[in-house]
Amino acid sequence: MIIQSIGLLIEFKDGRVKKANFGMATAARGENRHLIALVVDASAAEAKASLEAYGVARIINICTGKQGWDPAIQSAAVVAAFEQFEITNLIGLTSPAGRELLPRIAARLDAPLIMDCTEIDLDGHRVKTSQYSGKTIATIALTGRHFIYGIRANVVTPKKAPTEADIIEFAFEENRGTGYQVLETRSDGNGAQYLAESDIIISGGRGLKSGENFKMLFECAREMNASVGASRVAVDNGWVPYAMQVGQTGVKVNPKVYIAVGISGSVQHFAGMKTAKMIIAINSDANAAIMANCDYYAVGDLFEILPELKKQLDEHRQG
Ligand SMILES: Cc1cc2nc3c(=O)[nH]c(=O)nc-3n(C[C@H](O)[C@H](O)[C@H](O)COP(=O)(O)OP(=O)(O)OC[C@H]3O[C@@H](n4cnc5c(N)ncnc54)[C@H](O)[C@@H]3O)c2cc1C
Repeated sequence: MIIQSIGLLIEFKDGRVKKANFGMATAARGENRHLIALVVDASAAEAKASLEAYGVARIINICTGKQGWDPAIQSAAVVAAFEQFEITNLIGLTSPAGRELLPRIAARLDAPLIMDCTEIDLDGHRVKTSQYSGKTIATIALTGRHFIYGIRANVVTPKKAPTEADIIEFAFEENRGTGYQVLETRSDGNGAQYLAESDIIISGGRGLKSGENFKMLFECAREMNASVGASRVAVDNGWVPYAMQVGQTGVKVNPKVYIAVGISGSVQHFAGMKTAKMIIAINSDANAAIMANCDYYAVGDLFEILPELKKQLDEHRQG
């Protein structure tokens, strides 16, 4: 019986393992599989208990000795660990960090890479991913010695499968020049959760009329532990940053609940959120496209509905 070693590229937020990694571990589990978490320049000890709960049997604590984010060095370190521990498959998140690291790792290993997978068959080396604004689902077969996958956050519901993991320290000292130097990394300052990893998203569109009015969405989001997204119109108008754009040319999200406020529901917007488990629309136009494609809607002026929603959320919180 051949045991496959499946590497999981672990991401952290505020020192804790991101929840989306647990869905990733759940997707990777199976008979004859040995799950190896790759923790780069972060604390494996902190991550141990949470990763063990989802079936991770080994944690490789990779230390590059570098301060801060350096995808060139970190990807080289992951490849070194990959070879040393005979890992055959690597799964990471299709997140901003994953988009920086996974292609570099695949290039170094000369391995096939598919990002934004919605299903992964690790035995058959086949994945599913949506194409053409979600109109078709492609099944792609990979060939090679190593396989790299970027999974869409939240496509697999995390299920626990407790085990015990050992931690192996792995120092990567071969810091060859990378041809460039990261001079500065700036945060956007709001510390927001990456949209694709949120369980609840409330998004605003042209109906919001200004960036200032997005404050109403942020206030409701705080009450619901939600993230705030936007349509492309809101981004193109400069009301909110591009990182908040949901859709064909923005982030693809898969939350439990998606609330679209003052958004008409264009095909390009739908391409990014139609897999949400529940879609709720707030729109003054009962004939807007989104009304026919959602689970619940409220027809009315968002400037009346949002303050009422905020009031109700406040009351709910206060019990
Ligand atoms: C190649 C390409 C890629 C694109 N990619 C994306 C993408 O990634 N994401 C994206 O979102 N779009 C994308 N678009 C743009 C897309 O086609 C639409 O133009 C856009 O989604 C519309 O945004 P909206 O719904 O905010 O605005 P609108 O379509 O103008 O809708 C505004 C809605 O607000 C409602 N409204 C107005 N006032 C109120 C009020 N007071 N109360 C309640 N409701 C109100 C209106 O009834 C209307 O339904 C793309 C387009 C192209 C061509």
